[in-house]
Amino acid sequence: MENYSLLLDKQRAFFHTGTSKKQDFRSNALRKLKDSIKTNEKKIMDALKADLNKSEFEAYTTEIGFVLEEIGFTMKNLHKWMKPAKVKTPLTHFGSKSYVYYDSYGVAFIIAPWNYPFQLAIAPLIGAITAGNCAIIKPSELTPNTSEVLQNIIESIFPEEYIAVVQGDVETSQALLSENFDYIFFTGSVPVGKIVMEAASKTLTPVTLELGGKSPCIVHKDANIKMAAKRIAWGKFINAGQTCVAPDYLYVHSEIKEEFMEKFTFAIKELYGENPLENPDYTTIVSTKHFDRLQSFLSNGSKFHGGNADSETLAIEPTVLTNITWEDPVMQDEIFGPILPVLEYNSLSEVMNGISNHPNPLALYLFTEDKAIEEKIINNTSFGGGCINDTVFHLVSPHLPFGGVGSSGIGSYHGKGSFDTFSHKKSVLRQTTRFDIPFRYPNFTNGLKII
Ligand code: NAD
Repeated sequence: MENYSLLLDKQRAFFHTGTSKKQDFRSNALRKLKDSIKTNEKKIMDALKADLNKSEFEAYTTEIGFVLEEIGFTMKNLHKWMKPAKVKTPLTHFGSKSYVYYDSYGVAFIIAPWNYPFQLAIAPLIGAITAGNCAIIKPSELTPNTSEVLQNIIESIFPEEYIAVVQGDVETSQALLSENFDYIFFTGSVPVGKIVMEAASKTLTPVTLELGGKSPCIVHKDANIKMAAKRIAWGKFINAGQTCVAPDYLYVHSEIKEEFMEKFTFAIKELYGENPLENPDYTTIVSTKHFDRLQSFLSNGSKFHGGNADSETLAIEPTVLTNITWEDPVMQDEIFGPILPVLEYNSLSEVMNGISNHPNPLALYLFTEDKAIEEKIINNTSFGGGCINDTVFHLVSPHLPFGGVGSSGIGSYHGKGSFDTFSHKKSVLRQTTRFDIPFRYPNFTNGLKII
């Protein structure tokens, strides 16, 4: 195992100079990052095409455009966020004032997955920089072209004692995890999240875990069916279903199931054509291992739509499965591919029980026109975040902290959420020395004592 102590020592020494904490330095770093991403836009797109066959449109909207927006929003707000926040002081503390200072942690470790390999490495980095930290990024070994471009971008604008990219596989990740970081930000699977948390516990390093899970999507009988069909097809099959917040399975009310399924099939064809395997812009599955796992689900239940796959290109058609039960293999773990099982329901209590009897989802989507039903589902089910009458879109708002709950993750980020995540909230009470209130002292006899 390689030893990364030297790199960490360099970053910690740089951090202790205080340079990374200065507002101008943070702003400049964000500006450089933004400019470099813009300059390298074509290279990033080419790398994403090579790694995942991502179309330019998807590469821009879900990776490049997303992080450029995030940097722009952050730069606008940096000054405001960095200012110590004055908070209320109780009467018992008369004479003093209370503040929360946002303190940089030090050296952060960012571990990224392969499904949005550029965005999921850069978005946490924006948070780390904004909060004045140094950082080491370990991108995914499954998307080597994107990791290479990422490393070139970072090395061309930042010295390694400030921000560094270390490429490598599990062994590299574990060697880095054995170092003493000040913060660990992990995006990936639930089992690896547990490994990361265990490693962090040895040094009591705080962690954010952005994990996955089976995210339900409920289509109630009063939903706008045409709109639901289109928005679910988009959120499920974008990136060939390899999205942490993609609808994992559908709960469709029995009264509208037939109509919904017809419109849903139509929506899929509108998005990807009659033969998605021939569509040059249809994202492929990241590896043979993932392809084989997904292909094994194609025999679950009955194929309602799609079901074909190409083992040469690693593409799987958008596939809809019916006659599915919770016992089927496709319902045991997060699918993370273009396969959508459909469950039918008659009452919302069936839906709520089904969701509550399984690990907390990262996202939940509900299509209904009824406010009372919205409130019922929001207040009676546990999930990281989600949308009413849409899918995936909550993730792209810088005003909404994004993260899981329970087994789908710990902590959140995006926008101010990223700054908060990478900052320690240091509470400071500034006391007056003009007088002393003696009530707290055991020998109190007189009233207020003026010094
Ligand atoms: P993964 O957990 O296999 O790998 C993620 C990263 O961890 C990679 O960089 C990998 O090299 C490293 N890693 C793998 N095994 C490790 C180990 N034993 N010890 C230390 N490091 C290790 O995840 P993945 O397959 O790259 O990504 C898919 C998963 O990520 C899905 O479960 C998905 O839901 C989740 N995800 C979550 C979010 C989110 O924001 N919540 C976003 C994208 C993906």
